[in-house]
This record gives sequence, C-alpha cells and structure tokens, in this order.
Amino acid sequence: MSDIRITNVHVHTFTANHVPRWYPHPLLVPFRAVPGVIRLLAAIVRPFSRDKADTLDRLYRFQQEAGAWRQSEILAGMRKHYPRNTRFVVLPMDMEPIGHGPVRKGLRHQHEELAALARDNPETVIPFATLHPDGEGRVAEVVHAIETLGFRGLKLYPRMGFAPDHPVLMEEVYPLLLSRNLPVMTHCSRGGVRGRGVVPARADRYTRPEAWDPVWERYPDLRVCLAHFGGQEDWRAYVEEGYDPKDEGSLERNWQRLIRHRIGSGRFPSLWTDISYTLFHFDDFLPFLRLFLSAETEEAERLRARVLFGSDFYMTRQEQLSERAVCFRLRNALGEELFRRIAVENPETWLGER
Ligand SMILES: [Zn+2]
Repeated sequence: MSDIRITNVHVHTFTANHVPRWYPHPLLVPFRAVPGVIRLLAAIVRPFSRDKADTLDRLYRFQQEAGAWRQSEILAGMRKHYPRNTRFVVLPMDMEPIGHGPVRKGLRHQHEELAALARDNPETVIPFATLHPDGEGRVAEVVHAIETLGFRGLKLYPRMGFAPDHPVLMEEVYPLLLSRNLPVMTHCSRGGVRGRGVVPARADRYTRPEAWDPVWERYPDLRVCLAHFGGQEDWRAYVEEGYDPKDEGSLERNWQRLIRHRIGSGRFPSLWTDISYTLFHFDDFLPFLRLFLSAETEEAERLRARVLFGSDFYMTRQEQLSERAVCFRLRNALGEELFRRIAVENPETWLGER
C-alpha cells in the first residue's frame, strides 16, 4: 500500500489571518463566531441562490478551521488522513485586494509562513505562490517566493476579479514560470470566492476554460490545471439533466464536458484538470469519472494522462466522511492502476519532475 508515493495537488492551509475582516459581507461578521448560524443561513438561502449558499458554506469551512492560527496546525490535521510519504501541493490565497476589508497578515507573511512549513517538512510540502495581479507589489512578491524561497508553481483565483490574460500575468509572471518550467493551478468552478462587486456572470467569464485561450496562444507550453474538473454545478447538470445533442452551444455551457472534450481532442496539450472538491465532496459522480478514465479510446488515453488527484482540504471537510474515507472510496472505485496514474505519475509530470 505505501509502496506508492501519492501527490495531492490541491490543498489549503491558509488561516483566519488571511481572510479579510468583512468577508463575505459586513452583516455576517457578528455570526462568524457562531458557525451553526452560518450553516443555517446557507440552508435557507440555497433554494434561492446556489452561489450565495456556496459562499456561506465556504465561510462555514473557513470558520471551522479558524481555531487554527497557524498553517502548521492545518497541515498536521490533514496528514493524518494519508500515508506517511504523501506529498501536498499547498495553495495560498491572496484575498487582501478584493474589497472585503483588511487581512491580519499580508501575502508576504503568508508566503513566508508557508516557506517555513516547507522547510520543516521538505518531503511533504510543495509550496505554490499566489497573487491578485491588481494588488500592490505582487510581482516582486511572486519573484521572491519563486526565486528566493524556491516555490514550485503558481496558484490563481480569477473569480476574485481578474482575467487569466491580465497584462501583469502575461508580461511578467508567465515568462518567469516558463523559464523555470513551473505549472499553474487555477480555480475553475462556478462557486467560490468572488471579489466585492464582481457579479457571478463576470466571475464566470474570468473562470471559464476559454478564458485561457489568449494565454495559450502566446504561451502554448504553459502547463495549466483547471481545478475541480469544471465544478459541482456543471457535474450535477451533466449527471441529472443530460444534454441535447442537437444543441450546438451545450458543450461550451458545461465546463466538465468542455474540459473533457478539449483534453480528449489533443489540441490543448498544456491543459490539465484536477478532481478536487467536486469528486471529493460528491461521490455520486465517481462512477462517471471511472467511465471517462477507463474507456479504450484515444480521447480517454489523453484524459488519463491529464487528470490529477487533489482534494481541496479543508474545503472538503465533510460531516459524514473523513478525508481518509473519501480517499479510500476513490481509490477503490478507480482501481489501483488508474489511481496510481492520477495520484502518482501525472502529478510528477505536471510539476515538471519527470
Ligand atoms: Zn481550492
């Protein structure tokens, strides 16, 4: 069992120190100390707005971990669920510039703390840098994290309010990554954190898979992982509603299908995806994933080479199942060979180690 070395490409250890004071709304601040109320609100809001309910769920999970003030405490809680030699790609979050108030500790401090975590756990932690390209002094900070601290890739979160072809990224950040053969992890689902005033439609425009086309036009070799395999909403729609084969636009509207189609076509060799959150949170999607990955076609072979194992700890903390339990179910459902492919081999290729 422990003869393989798993790499979980998508986890978080950021703490309440890094979440803005008024996020997601000033009126909710009094309730932040009482997580039960946030859960209740999420349940009430869900029938009216999935997006708002999702934001509240996320806040609840932030609150659950808010007892931890150090990233090392969160890492310790997560490691218990995995074999000892497992590695984790740790993704920070730059929420300071999104208009929800100040953070206790700025990006520099978050990066430094993560660097210390990686120094203390060199076999375990693979640190990524992050930035909001509109934030002040961010390019210098990313250069510092990569060149001085030895960070191994970049995390982006376009939903917060920027496009992947933002000039700062195009002119200064992507060339640095390419010169060092480092990959990008980017949030790709319709839920999640949004900047203040960024309406869902605009957030989706920044987040959708096509938003990366201008980047690849210029940097075709930049390895980009669209996290969450399109997200739970699009998986839910695919599984429950199906699609009309005569409807020409249906492919573009469902990000799960679009990502699968694009990878399968072979025309997007730098496009990767991970199964974090979506497949960890909703195990009714698992049979579909297994089917997609195990077909005997050229398209499926390309997909098998581009899907990455990730969990999105601590966003995935379920009430009923531990991360360990979900992990074993997944491994069992996929079978040892497929699991090894997405959890051992593919992450090493994506990270540039092979
Ligand atoms: Zn995440």
